Amino acid sequence: MFETYVKYLEFLNGKLAKFFESQKPYIFCKKGCAMCCKHSQLPYSLLEVNYLLSGFLKLDKETQKRIENNIIKTLQEKKNYKGDEFLYDCPFLIDNVCSVYEYRGIICRTFGLMMKKTDGKITVPFCCYEGYNYSNVIDLENKKISEKKVKERGFPEEPLGFNVSYEYLTDHEIEHAFQVQFGLKKPLIDWFISN
Ligand code: SF4
Ligand code: SF4
Repeated sequence: MFETYVKYLEFLNGKLAKFFESQKPYIFCKKGCAMCCKHSQLPYSLLEVNYLLSGFLKLDKETQKRIENNIIKTLQEKKNYKGDEFLYDCPFLIDNVCSVYEYRGIICRTFGLMMKKTDGKITVPFCCYEGYNYSNVIDLENKKISEKKVKERGFPEEPLGFNVSYEYLTDHEIEHAFQVQFGLKKPLIDWFISN
C-alpha cells in the first residue's frame, strides 16, 4: 500500500541526510530536544497520516493510549481556542521523543534546516533564536546570517538554504515522479476530528 511512498521517503531521506551533513557546523539537534514538535501547525496529507497511523498500530498498547489521550486533549483545546491559527504539541510526542519516528511526516523530516524558497527568500529555523541551529552564525539584530561570524569561527563556507518547503516536497511533480498521491492536506490534529 505504501510501496511508492516509501521509495520517495528513501530518496528524500538520502537528500536530507546530505543537506544536514553539509550544515554540520551549524546544526545542534539532539535527542530530547523536541521544540520543533511543539506549538506548531504540522501540515499532513492523507497519505502521510495513513502512513503515520500504520506506525501507530505497531506501538504497544500503553503508548497508543497515551497518544489517544493527547489527541483528545488537543482536540478539546482546539475547540476552546478563539484565535486565528491553533498551534499545538504533536500528540505523537511521548516523553519528548517521537513515538513514530520511522513513520513521521515530511515536514518532520525537514525540521532544523535553513530554507530557501523558490523566490530565493531564505529563512532560518525558529530554534536559531533559542540558541540552537545556526545560532552560532546569526546576526540577531538583522535576523540574517552574519558573514563576519562565519569567518571569525573559521567555517570554510557560509551556511546554505535548501528548498525543503512542505509545498515543494509534496507538489504535483513529486507525485508524478514517484507515482504517489498525497491527497488532501490539513493540520495533523484535524485528521482526528470526527464528523
Ligand atoms: S510525528 Fe514525530 S517528529 Fe513529527 S511532530 Fe510528531 S513527534 Fe515530532
Ligand atoms: S530542529 Fe531545532 S528544535 Fe528541532 S530538534 Fe533540532 S535543534 Fe531542536
